[in-house]
Amino acid sequence: MKLAFTPEENAFRDEVRAFFATALTPELAHAGRHMTSVYSSREHALAWQKILYDQGWLVPSWPEEYGGCNWSLTQRYIFACERARAKPPALSPMGLSMLGPALLGCGTEAQKQHYLPRILRGEDYWCQGYSEPQAGSDLATLQCSAVRDGDHYLLNGTKIWTTHAQYATHMFCLVRTGTFDRPQKGITFLLLPMDAEGITITPIRFVSGAATQAQVFFDNVRVDASQRVGEENDGWTVAKYLLEFERGGGASAPGLLEGVEDLHTFAEALPEGERSALTQRLHALTSRIEALEMAELQALAETERRGSPGPGASMLKLLGTELSQALTELQVEALGPYGLVHQPEALAFESNVAPVGPAAGLTTVPFYLNNRAATIYAGSSEVQRNIISKAVLGL
Ligand SMILES: Cc1cc2nc3c(=O)[nH]c(=O)nc-3n(C[C@H](O)[C@H](O)[C@H](O)COP(=O)(O)OP(=O)(O)OC[C@H]3O[C@@H](n4cnc5c(N)ncnc54)[C@H](O)[C@@H]3O)c2cc1C
Repeated sequence: MKLAFTPEENAFRDEVRAFFATALTPELAHAGRHMTSVYSSREHALAWQKILYDQGWLVPSWPEEYGGCNWSLTQRYIFACERARAKPPALSPMGLSMLGPALLGCGTEAQKQHYLPRILRGEDYWCQGYSEPQAGSDLATLQCSAVRDGDHYLLNGTKIWTTHAQYATHMFCLVRTGTFDRPQKGITFLLLPMDAEGITITPIRFVSGAATQAQVFFDNVRVDASQRVGEENDGWTVAKYLLEFERGGGASAPGLLEGVEDLHTFAEALPEGERSALTQRLHALTSRIEALEMAELQALAETERRGSPGPGASMLKLLGTELSQALTELQVEALGPYGLVHQPEALAFESNVAPVGPAAGLTTVPFYLNNRAATIYAGSSEVQRNIISKAVLGL
């Protein structure tokens, strides 16, 4: 099924398309097309963020008074499709798509006034401190402790798998402030600067070769009590609200459909037998992605109606990440031996080194390896299925 746009919507699409064509510098376009992870480098993400901010298109879904666009759902969808087509660097989601909406929903006026403009201008770069070595899927068992000491909390413990902790200026985190009958109670949501005394950061290298995540240690770190979001011991409420935005609220189908198109183009150069086998599998994948597209449009409407994506966000997270893995698996298969090319020097912007084989061979396998984590972070697929069965299907 394809949506038909009105003449005004078509004009909007042309405007967005023209913007992407002129606003993306050659270096940013190169960075966006050669990503080896779902994250761009901090430098490229912030450079692209500034361009969107200056244009007023950085956070379309936020309320207008805080920088949102007041676009219709269709305009937001068109924007997502054009972004997928243009392939700019990825924006860092921790401030813009996670903490920002959480502060809008649960922060004090002072927190909103202080942090939201800084998030938009890229002055603060956030990381998310939830997981601990013994608390991932069962996040409520987290132990990193915060003890009240006058106007401060004193933090001790550790966080792990913290994406971009080594580049972040700030962390939003969940800490234990009490022990009650339920583990979800006694958790508090805090904001802290990463240069606070007592913080140590140790990067973790993954199978893809990149060290995008880190373990963070807290040794008597002082955090001002004004940096608490929500009530003490009630951080789980804030975390659940935020997780809905982490798991849903975006549109991954347009990008996946672009990836399928790229593979169709790649298939054209293959011998007949291989081409038709790949094309058949791409058609099957396209039907599944189009089903996701419809679900994402429904979720956009739901977010507009109730202010947050709701537990259905788990369904989008599950489908979006599993389909993105199905796509990267096909990309690796299609490349065959060229997937094994390791030529980082050919990846650099304005490199004089020609790739051995198809250019896609330079990034496909690193991205594939990195993307194996997509069905683990932000809650594994098994955990999403549990949530869907309880909160969506009522089983
Ligand atoms: C690349 C990457 C980036 C990440 N970024 C961040 C970040 O920025 N901030 C942060 O706080 N965390 C981050 N994480 C951590 C991530 O959220 C956790 O890895 C995830 O929640 C799973 O927890 P775990 O690793 O402890 O695995 P476990 O919870 O130990 O799970 C192990 C296995 O058991 C399964 N399982 C567990 N419980 C159940 C159940 N009840 N029913 C069925 N199966 C179950 C899981 O699905 C999984 O297959 C990141 C992780 C990765 C890999």
